[in-house]
Amino acid sequence: MYKSIRGMEDILPGGIRAWQSLERIARIELESNGYSEIRTPILEETAVFSRSIGDTTDIVTKEMYTFVDKKGRGLSLRPEGTAPIVRAYVEHSLHRISNQSRLYYIGPMFRSERPQKGRSRQFHQIGAEIIGSSEPQMDAEIIARLSDLLKLFGLEAFQIKLNSLGCKDDKDKFSGKLKNYLKGKKNKLCADCNNRLEKNCLRVLDCKNEECVKIVKDSPDIADNLCGRCGEHFGKVKMMLESYFGVQFVESKKMVRGLDYYTGTVFEVTHPDLGGQDALGGGGRYDNLVKEFGGPNVGAVGFAIGIERVFIALGDKKDLFGSPGLVYIATLGGDAKIKGRKLAEELRLRWNGFPPPDGRLYNLNVVTLLDWTDASLRSQMRSADRNGARVVIILGDDEIKQNKAAIKDMENKEPQFLIDIGSVVDEVGKRMGLC
Ligand code: AMP
Repeated sequence: MYKSIRGMEDILPGGIRAWQSLERIARIELESNGYSEIRTPILEETAVFSRSIGDTTDIVTKEMYTFVDKKGRGLSLRPEGTAPIVRAYVEHSLHRISNQSRLYYIGPMFRSERPQKGRSRQFHQIGAEIIGSSEPQMDAEIIARLSDLLKLFGLEAFQIKLNSLGCKDDKDKFSGKLKNYLKGKKNKLCADCNNRLEKNCLRVLDCKNEECVKIVKDSPDIADNLCGRCGEHFGKVKMMLESYFGVQFVESKKMVRGLDYYTGTVFEVTHPDLGGQDALGGGGRYDNLVKEFGGPNVGAVGFAIGIERVFIALGDKKDLFGSPGLVYIATLGGDAKIKGRKLAEELRLRWNGFPPPDGRLYNLNVVTLLDWTDASLRSQMRSADRNGARVVIILGDDEIKQNKAAIKDMENKEPQFLIDIGSVVDEVGKRMGLC
């Protein structure tokens, strides 16, 4: 029997509602704050990632699904969303449309890591970017958006960690300083860090190895070594987060994040219920990337949230999301089927909002299922039960003649009762907590 590839999971109908709800919350929140969705392909030229994320990073050296296609091109499944968006921004000259592009994305990412709790090979991210400005207001806005989204998902105990890497000059100067500090301690660093020391020294600060963490504890901090401009920028971001947005954060002086394109502000959000893989999301500023990709010299900042990790952090609260009530319409006879179909439509219109072209939101509070078969009432009731119906409406030709329908509330198990057909839509709404 075939199985899905290790680390790449099916999301089955029983679990999809939570995904849809979470995605819907994200879309409404981001769209209503002026962000537009962008969908880039899952495959890109490998260079899109190696040039931006950095060809000495773990993501590029170890984790990308890379292959050569029949025409000899090096292609990779996207391990993250920012580089493809910058590629698209430059390719389609989006800077001509607006001086600031607020963009968001939702979709799968691929990294060939060892699967464990909270770490898979296909995972999903919700991310947002503001491209076109280097102002500190944008850093604060992006972090506030991330924090608001997590709250809307129902998360509370998360912590936002903040640091600044400074501009490219600051990063280079600090790397030299750090290298000097670490040189004498080389034999105590792990093999990976010895490698990093030569190729990408800042990443030693990220190492989780106990010995390395000890050594790094007393190393100089990058945020204490910023140039005047970057120091001022970081100060403003912190001030704005506190006073404009009321967002709480802690400064995390050793956090550098694993991707080369970051400059200036970087941040990560952790949650205590996540265990070893404790990051819910992260992001930062990447002021050089648009230019490096051949676009205008504009700054940018963004975040990405890992959806699977949001669900782990939500635990049982995940089930509160999006389970629309099923209304099962049992019908006996031809007239009942005609009446039932109309009733189902009225229920959906009333409780799921207004379908296009009104343009109003189309919610999914109610799912209607009408039994078209000529099965007996007993068998239809069994089927309603098996499908998890919240309410059953029973329509027989006799009831219809009296303009009545029988209602059976499947949750409280009270006996069924007759009401006027005209009151059915309200009655169902009341029973499902919709009014
Ligand atoms: P990163 O770009 O590595 O900072 O990833 C941003 C977020 O995506 C992380 O904070 C995680 O929530 C999520 N994430 C990254 N890698 C994985 C993975 N292999 N499996 C599940 N979630 C991941």
